[in-house]
Amino acid sequence: MANELTLRVITPERIVTDTTAASVRMPGLDGDMGVFPRHAAMVAALKPGILRYKEGGLETTMFVAGGFAEVRDNTVRVLTSAGEEPADIDQVRAQAALDRARQRLAGSQVTNSGEPIDMIRAEAALQRALMRLTTKGLGGGR
Ligand code: ATP
Repeated sequence: MANELTLRVITPERIVTDTTAASVRMPGLDGDMGVFPRHAAMVAALKPGILRYKEGGLETTMFVAGGFAEVRDNTVRVLTSAGEEPADIDQVRAQAALDRARQRLAGSQVTNSGEPIDMIRAEAALQRALMRLTTKGLGGGR
């Protein structure tokens, strides 16, 4: 339909979503990005966060673990390492990941080998866990 676009959320493991939508909102690196039908072609980097799309007046929310979004030919393709709708999110696992990340961030700023890179990984893991828990809390979806 003229007032719809196609949304595909793809991970290395599966196609999480392949649907039509009236609009899509994605967590861009520099802030949320809205995409409507017949949007100009673009590629954008995403951060871990919540993707929302509207379909038949209903809004669906989904966690995406960052990655890239390509908009072309009235299709939004999101390539991400992980994507989950609220019902697919294991809250206990996400809470455990959050606790682990917080412990790491509260500890030494260096790894055993003296590299700061683990703090960056811990921060990224923290963001994924927080966003999963937020997505779960928002509920909704199908
Ligand atoms: P964890 O430390 O619990 O593995 P993580 O953030 O490192 O969390 P990811 O690397 O983002 O995990 O994801 C690895 C795989 O596990 C993906 O397929 C993702 O969908 C799945 N996954 C991770 N956490 C959860 C969760 N809380 N609920 C459901 N699936 C999850």
